[in-house]
Amino acid sequence: AEGDSTVGEEERILVSVRLRPLNAKELERNDTSDWECIDRTTVVFKNNLPDRSMYPTAYTFDRVFGSKCGTRDVYEEGAKEVALSVVSGINATIFAYGQTNSGKTYTMTGITEYSVADIYDHIKRHEEREFILKFSAMEIYNEVVRDLLSMDGSPLRLLDDPERGTIVEKLTEETLRDENHLKELLSTCEAQRQTGETSLNEMSSRSHQILRLTIESSARELLNRNSSSTLAATVNFVDLAGSERASQTGVRLKEGCHINRSLLTLGTVIRKLSKGRNGHIPYRDSKLTRILQSSLGGNARTAIVCTMSPARSHIEQSRNTLLFASCAK
Ligand code: ADP
Ligand code: MG
Repeated sequence: AEGDSTVGEEERILVSVRLRPLNAKELERNDTSDWECIDRTTVVFKNNLPDRSMYPTAYTFDRVFGSKCGTRDVYEEGAKEVALSVVSGINATIFAYGQTNSGKTYTMTGITEYSVADIYDHIKRHEEREFILKFSAMEIYNEVVRDLLSMDGSPLRLLDDPERGTIVEKLTEETLRDENHLKELLSTCEAQRQTGETSLNEMSSRSHQILRLTIESSARELLNRNSSSTLAATVNFVDLAGSERASQTGVRLKEGCHINRSLLTLGTVIRKLSKGRNGHIPYRDSKLTRILQSSLGGNARTAIVCTMSPARSHIEQSRNTLLFASCAK
């Protein structure tokens, strides 16, 4: 990953922004929808605040999705090519970034489901190859890693393996029988997330969730020249902690710091990668970036979907989200 100062098209991070519709609460208090997607790549702030100079009015990304777009659209144009690179042996990571309640989980759940369906579709269309799929899932809360497929909630250690890089010790890895098996495991993860000692919202807004699918494939017919190689890669679906935590200070300082660490380190890593800057990339500064290192930068593909509320009342957080997204592209 280091030492290369050029960034090819392939290596660029695919960055998109998704606006959700105003929710019931926002409508009830007559919140206004301040953001609008004027074309496929530009989101504008309608800029009718008293101080017009405070905010840039237009932001451009690879793709922007207005509140009428469905998750299918977001997947097709903001994640699919990155997610499916895993079947060609290329590691990939898809992130959902944004403040709590902006639609990260809603978006990432859909993206994960569509990706899984397309991966199984690919497998069906390639009977000449044999595929082995493995699934694991973890949560990082307060810089502590836990297994979402195990009832035993004890913290997992990260180990450095000279060949495989950072590995999560004792993490459950299920070999998948079929697509339904994976769907069952995804529900298990969701249930595990909900049984934390804090309420779902509290917990999910403060933790990072990583769902990880590893795909190995090899030609059934060894004499088949074109497809005799063995391929192996991992795709990560990452539902990040609420981005408001990145600026949180105060009472829960220790927790705030830890959450800051993973989210802030991710921001730094992504900024450096997006600039194709050679030299040190601080993967080792947080659990999240250590775990994702082999799927972030280098030959890996990355997509980030930034979710935001269109409401006037959330303008500060929305602006922070757009700044993050701008730094990633
Ligand atoms: P986050 O994970 O960022 O905290 P959620 O994904 O839980 O936010 O979304 C908050 C609420 O808004 C949920 O009830 C979700 O169903 C709803 N929601 C989010 N995005 C959309 C959308 N694009 N269209 C309709 N409802 C949405
Ligand atoms: Mg969520």
